[in-house]
Amino acid sequence: MAFTLAPLPYAFNALEPHIDAKTMEIHHDKHHAAYTNNLNNAIKDTEWENKSIEDILANVSKISPAVRNNGGGFYNHNLFWEIMGMNGGGTPTGDLMSAIDTHLGGFEKFKETFSTAATTRFGSGWAWLVVTQDKKLIVTSTPNQDNTLMDVSDVKATPILGIDVWEHAYYLNYQNRRPDYIAAFYNVINWNKVAEKFKAAM
Ligand code: MN
Repeated sequence: MAFTLAPLPYAFNALEPHIDAKTMEIHHDKHHAAYTNNLNNAIKDTEWENKSIEDILANVSKISPAVRNNGGGFYNHNLFWEIMGMNGGGTPTGDLMSAIDTHLGGFEKFKETFSTAATTRFGSGWAWLVVTQDKKLIVTSTPNQDNTLMDVSDVKATPILGIDVWEHAYYLNYQNRRPDYIAAFYNVINWNKVAEKFKAAM
């Protein structure tokens, strides 16, 4: 079974004015589509062909650079579309908010830490909110299309929120102003979805 590119779960313009429709269209239909196709080509006729993406990522050091790059790209963008949405923004609630208070010093401090991780990731990559194996919430970042499910990652953890800081994620609207894109991202986060992922990871 080849991996398939799921349709974007909302309209291309759903995240405007924070993320523009043209960026969303190219990002999903071209970039995410390419990661998906390239992943399928890289695992075709190998023992990894029928494995789950989580299995593949957990063993990625044994496979190939193409699978690391494109398997990461496939997984990361699936998560990215899911944790955004129209009517996003605001703050988390319930157990997730309690955990942010306990482990990250409160919501404002979390935003500061997460924004710094996203801003200072040199070149292309992602900043993440993840649940570690000992069930702590931490903020981290990874280069390129790596993530914390990969065996090559220093931090081993389950991602529950991520921001793509590749230039393709923001350049049409924000050009070199990555910090402005990061600030706008908080307006489109679907915290209910992040809370679901938090619950599942716990
Ligand atoms: Mn991307």
